[in-house]
Amino acid sequence: MILTRRRLFSTTVATGTALVAAPAIIRGLATPAEAKAPIAGTKAPSFYRFKLGEFEITALHDGEFARPLDASFVRNAPLEDVQKTLADNFLPTDKLTISFTALLVNTGSKLVLIDTGFNDNGGPTNGRVVSALKAAGYDPSMVDAVIFSHFHGDHLQGARTKAGQLVYPNAEMMVPAPEWDFWMDDAKMAAASEGMKGAFAGVRRVLQPNAADVKRFKWGDEVVTGITAVEAAGHTPGHTAFAIVSGNAKMMYVADVTNTPVLFATNPDWKVMFDMDADKAVATRKRILDMAATDKFQLSFYHASFPSTGFIAKAGAGYRFVPVQWS
Ligand SMILES: [Zn+2]
Repeated sequence: MILTRRRLFSTTVATGTALVAAPAIIRGLATPAEAKAPIAGTKAPSFYRFKLGEFEITALHDGEFARPLDASFVRNAPLEDVQKTLADNFLPTDKLTISFTALLVNTGSKLVLIDTGFNDNGGPTNGRVVSALKAAGYDPSMVDAVIFSHFHGDHLQGARTKAGQLVYPNAEMMVPAPEWDFWMDDAKMAAASEGMKGAFAGVRRVLQPNAADVKRFKWGDEVVTGITAVEAAGHTPGHTAFAIVSGNAKMMYVADVTNTPVLFATNPDWKVMFDMDADKAVATRKRILDMAATDKFQLSFYHASFPSTGFIAKAGAGYRFVPVQWS
């Protein structure tokens, strides 16, 4: 039989004569086969582990959030162009699913979590970093340091439960000094729009209670042995990437240098609505993606499809994200 496209999707052909007979036999022998299993809905906690020199790196999936796609998402491109890029990648064009993936680095002497997801401060489809961490074999009490790339809620809120408890009670919290200086500035908060005031309040909810213990680092500092802060400003005033180096092996956690690379590595000039200084964000994006393409080191994004890690190749006027082969 020639399997035409029409036949492939036709139920009468797809079940075929041999298969049609099977259900009758099952019906006769075992009534439990009739029972309908409930639709589960939930997913398994997801982690992905790889080696970097002597370090062990684990990507921890927090989950995702689907937002309707409209013209406001990319400020400087027609909606049809955004939809075409999504369609070219076999993605829906009426909504955009933003994925969240934190990165755990075990240096052999310290267990370091970079960004924290939402914990119970988000929605039903995210907040799973702790369950992924546990599935990966660790307890939150084992984390020695939590490093933040920037203070947007999807990266920061998971450090404290909705009820106010620290999620990683033994971890030192480490933050980029320029990010702290911006969000902790009362005058900037007072001058902000109502929506932005909420963002300021969210930052303070997480960091203020332990402010005296929060360690602030500068760009260029080796924050933890093997993890160095790299200036990546634009998305937020203190947005930071992290170079992770063990022996001869090097990678970079680039946080929100792009939102989903499907859109913004392909079109690095596109300005996502979340970039606070969009021109600076574009320049930062090009600088870091170009470095990654030239030096061929692995990147981990926060908003790529899980496990959110791979390589960058030059492609046309932009770049192409090449996910790692799952292993
Ligand atoms: Zn983000």
